[in-house]
Amino acid sequence: MLEDLFVHLCIMISFMFIVGAIFKNKQVPGNTQLEIILGLTAGVLGSVLIFFGIELNHGIRLDLRYMALILSVLHGGILTMSITGAVLILTRLAFFPFATSSIVGVLIIAASVIAYVIIKRSNQSDLKKWVWMNVFGFLLNVIPLRLYIEGYDLLEIVIGYGLVTVSAGILVYIASNYIAESNRNHMLMKEQLERDFLTGLSNRRHFHTMFQGYLEKAVRNNQPLSFLMIDIDHFKSINDTYGHPVGDAVLQRLGKFLMESSRNEDLVSRMGGEEFSALLWNTSYEQATAIAERWRSQITHISMRMPSGKNITITVSIGVSSFPPHKEAVTLLEEADKALYRAKQQGRNRVC
Ligand code: GH3
Ligand code: MG
Ligand code: MG
Repeated sequence: MLEDLFVHLCIMISFMFIVGAIFKNKQVPGNTQLEIILGLTAGVLGSVLIFFGIELNHGIRLDLRYMALILSVLHGGILTMSITGAVLILTRLAFFPFATSSIVGVLIIAASVIAYVIIKRSNQSDLKKWVWMNVFGFLLNVIPLRLYIEGYDLLEIVIGYGLVTVSAGILVYIASNYIAESNRNHMLMKEQLERDFLTGLSNRRHFHTMFQGYLEKAVRNNQPLSFLMIDIDHFKSINDTYGHPVGDAVLQRLGKFLMESSRNEDLVSRMGGEEFSALLWNTSYEQATAIAERWRSQITHISMRMPSGKNITITVSIGVSSFPPHKEAVTLLEEADKALYRAKQQGRNRVC
């Protein structure tokens, strides 16, 4: 029994680490496609567990497939668990001879799904949910044994299966929490390294990481790439007149405008202070100039309501540079900077 339990736990924990690595940068709940994939994966885990059952005594084999159901409902959702349940039922019916125990097996899975939905929706801590789900998993699996296993000491089975459940429950809880937490931290750290805190746009660091790649791809595919440097005019006087928090709100509003106005394949960044940039994929110099002119004009029409009730508007100056002709990241940046400087010199609120 100990050997079987050891193999059972090894399967579960290795599966969890692999699945954790695959879903590392992904938020599963709410993403139907990922919920389905996780459901199928947990279904495979449960099915493997069925094949590597734990031999208790008198030839009675038990397994912890219900833990695959719990993991899928806790890390995915109800859809995920339903898929896992369906996979488990299919495995049970496809690979094991049909008998009373098959019907009982299917009923146990169905009953577990219902019990876990109720527990998942209850207002308890994750640890309590985990404990309750395991208690139900244990009861749902042990009680029916009485129905079709006769002549054996049920107490012996209850104690054996109880020990398996408790030890596996603790280990799997620790492992799954560790994986979920380190994935969360990984996502958070990546987010904080790449995003500007105020506007949520890419920060300067991320921009520089991405810029070279954009340019190399453009040169390789001979596709045009354009770069806009966008600077708010007289921003200092907004801060001086209305205060720093209003200045921050203006930066956020402009960030939102740029994000909404660009495409997914473009890279909009806050380069620092009141300076933004947009890297426009597959966009020629002429197209980029037209886009810059359109944005400049649209920005003058954004009216921002201040806490005092007053509306303020801003203007921006934009410098444009493109590949072709500039092939070097440094030159592209310098040219846009020079163009922006000219726009400021020529009176601001313009594109150069
Ligand atoms: P110009 O038209 O020449 O661009 O003038 P400007 O006033 O916009 O430019 P300047 O570089 O003189 O001032 C930029 C100001 O931006 C100064 C700084 O206090 C302010 N600033 C920088 N970062 C932040 C921020 O995160 N929040 C707020 N509210 N202000 C910021
Ligand atoms: Mg400025
Ligand atoms: Mg500036």
